[in-house]
Parts: sequence; structure tokens; C-alpha cells
Amino acid sequence: MALTEYAHDLDTPVHPVSAPDYMPAEQLRALQLHRLQGLVRRVYDHVPLTRRRMEERGVRPEHIKTLKDISLLPFMLKTDLRDEYPFGLFASPMNDIVRFHCSSGTTGKPIVIGNTQNDILVWQNGCMRALAMCGVRSSDVMQVAYGYGLFTGGLGLHYGGEGLGCAVLPISGGNTDRQLMLMKDMGVTVIACTPSYFLHLIDEGMKKGIDFKRDMRLKHGVFGAEPWTEEMRAKIESLTGIAAHDIYGLTEICGPGVANDCAHRHGLHVFEDHFYPEIVDPETLEPLPDGEPGELVFTTLTRTGTPMLRYRTRDISRISAEPCPCGRTIRAIERISARTDDMLIIRGVNVFPSQIEAGLLSVEAVLPHYVIIVDKVGGLDTLEIKVEVTRETLSDDIKSLEALRARVAHAVQRIINISAKITLVEPHTLPRSEGKLRRVTDLRQKS
Ligand code: ADP
Ligand code: ZN
Repeated sequence: MALTEYAHDLDTPVHPVSAPDYMPAEQLRALQLHRLQGLVRRVYDHVPLTRRRMEERGVRPEHIKTLKDISLLPFMLKTDLRDEYPFGLFASPMNDIVRFHCSSGTTGKPIVIGNTQNDILVWQNGCMRALAMCGVRSSDVMQVAYGYGLFTGGLGLHYGGEGLGCAVLPISGGNTDRQLMLMKDMGVTVIACTPSYFLHLIDEGMKKGIDFKRDMRLKHGVFGAEPWTEEMRAKIESLTGIAAHDIYGLTEICGPGVANDCAHRHGLHVFEDHFYPEIVDPETLEPLPDGEPGELVFTTLTRTGTPMLRYRTRDISRISAEPCPCGRTIRAIERISARTDDMLIIRGVNVFPSQIEAGLLSVEAVLPHYVIIVDKVGGLDTLEIKVEVTRETLSDDIKSLEALRARVAHAVQRIINISAKITLVEPHTLPRSEGKLRRVTDLRQKS
């Protein structure tokens, strides 16, 4: 079947690299099973921790006869990667490893991932397909402002862009003035960075009198590596006139390019011929059917350096039970709005920072810069949100300022069901980030 027949609903012609996105479902399942069987055998033979866990459960590689049998297998966790630091989970000899990456983990030892040449190609394939899904083509000029180095963002998108034939500008993160100058002078059409860094670029640009719509040739933003909301997407798109795309990934699975949203925005299609997704109940660890929310788990069907078997991501999502109108057969996950680790329990209520963001940004005058401060005063949890608002709204008129504050407070409370102290601040006063931004400060004593 010709590629264009699969892609009936897209206005851009399908890029040849996207062919596996449209593989007939039966063929895809057969391929996944074949790859899963090979992976389980490889891990069983080469990774002592997994072999031991499989033996404890009485499971052997030959017991994997259908895709459902994946539920017989043990999970892997970030703590396994820490405990087996640095090379305990490697399934290939060092001779075959060509590159390491480490997660940007904040405390303790990092986790180390080893990539074989094949792993690099698999990862590049994910990033090429992600970019192609965004509508990026070989004629594009792509600025990669994700950090290069141990962090996977920079090199991941770099290889993806080069693979598609784009002209790549490997500028990495930071040096915002230079980013803006080159973006303008070189007619950059695609920017890849964290959404929070792009907000910073817009902001610094504005200070210099740069209007993204007028002065830049930018068409696409490829944003990921941290949670962001539909409301944030709307703000970015209206400020700059670009299409803001959501790219997802994590170091343990490869880096960016595990999943990406298509033009229909019904979620992020997972490149599941390489990265097999499951959703499990985070408490009971039982697999959940498509459509149910839970913890996202991945198995790297084709990786050989540090393959992951049922890796628990801690990210909360659901696999869409509906086919996407774009015609892709690879399934989509709902955008990652939360990570179990980021959940705040405030006065007994579970609150995710992304819910607060959604509430804040639903108010017109609010700018996409905010911080969340949680504390305990007199035994009671307190929640304060400082948020920037447009200069025009910060008038001297106390009454209208108070009305705006109340509107913001109401918009947040409507979503999280608890009240917050809202402080409105001037534009450009809250911290900005060149990489992943930490917007939450929790000052409560950890007991
Ligand atoms: P670390 O875990 O140290 O932050 P990574 O760079 O591997 O290191 O981060 C991966 C995590 O980043 C994912 O598990 C997820 O929580 C988050 N993430 C990545 N892309 C997105 C995205 N598009 N939307 C929401 N969260 C994302
Ligand atoms: Zn789609």
C-alpha cells in the first residue's frame, strides 16, 4: 500500500521515515512479539538481576508466547539502576558500547545508560519520526537548544534533525542573546528546547523589541523534557505564531523520541515497534486496559546496551483506546501531565503542579511564569503561588488589581479544590531556566 493511502487525513505528505507509524496492526503486534522474545532472552542471559527475579517467579524466556505474557515478567525501577551503578544492567560487552548518557537526577548517584551503535540508530529513528510527525523536513533550519552532553535532549534531537537532512545549529542551552541573534540571522525555522526555556527566549526577545511573529522565521517548536499543559501550548502559540509540538522521552528508554504528538493532538504516538508501552495500576502493578489512567511502563524491544524490561517511569498517562484520525496504527498516550514524584499532598489533597498551571493560564492577563511555594504554618499546610501578570494589568487601581487576584485564585481553586494565596508580580521578576525548570519549593519538614 502506498504511504499516502495510510495518511488520508494529513495535509503534509508522509515522510518515508514515518512508514512504520502506519504498519497494519496485526503486523505490528507480530513484530513486537518477535522482538520481545529476543529481548527477554538477551536480558535473561546477560543481566543477573533480571535473571534472578525471573527465576524467583519461575519464568523462563520460552514462557513468553504472546504479548500478554509480558505481565509474567518483573518490573525495573530507577532504584535498580542506582543499585546496579554503573554497569550492572548492561547486556552488551563494553566493546560494543559507543556512548554513555546519565540522567539529570538531582540527588545521589546518577543512572548510567550505555548505548551500542544499534541503540543510537534506534534512538535516532525515534527522533527522526518524531520530527517528521511535527512536519519538519530537510529544508528546515533547526536550532537545538536542549543541553548537549550527558543529558539526552541535545544529542537526541541533533541526530534526529541531521537524519532528516535539516540544517542543524547545535547551540545547546544558555547564552540567550546569542540564541536570539542566530535564530533571527540564520532564519531558523525549528526550535527544539524545553518549553520553559522557550518562554525565556520569548521573554528576553520582547525586552530587546523582538516580535517573534514579525522578526523570526520560526514555524515549529519541539518541546519536551518537562511537563507542560495545553494552556501553556496555547500561550506559546499565540505569542509566537508557531506550532508547538510535544515530544516525550526519558534517558532510561533512550532520551527524547519515545513518543510525539501528531497534527491531530489526540495524544503522543509511541514508536511502539521499539518502545512497548503498558499502563499499570501504580499500587497493585496490575496491567490496565487501554483508556485507563495509571503509571506508564516501557519495554525497549530493540535496545541492546542497557535494555529495559517493564521499566516503571513514574509518569502518569493513559493509552488512547481510540484510533487517531491521522491513520497511524501506533497507539497514542495522553500527554504526560504528572509524575508521581511531583505530586504534592496539601491539606490531605493530592495536587499536581500541572493542575495549578492549567488554572493560572486560563486567565487572560496571566503570563506563563509562576512559582509554587508550599509550607507549614502552625501545623497547617499553606500554598502560595506567585505569578507574573501583564504590565498593563498591574495598574495602580487597587480595586481592579484585587479583582484580578480573586479571578486567578478562583481559577486555581476550581481545579485543585483548595485555596491558595495568590501574589501577582511584575513581568520578568520570577526565575527563568535554561533547561528544566523547578517551579515548586516545598518548605515543609520531611518527617
Ligand atoms: P530526569 O528523570 O533526571 O529528569 P530525564 O531527562 O530522563 O531525566 O527526564 C525524563 C522525564 O522527563 C520523564 O520521565 C518525564 O517525567 C519528563 N518528560 C519528558 N518529556 C516530557 C513531556 N513531553 N511532557 C511531560 N514530561 C516529560
Ligand atoms: Zn495521530
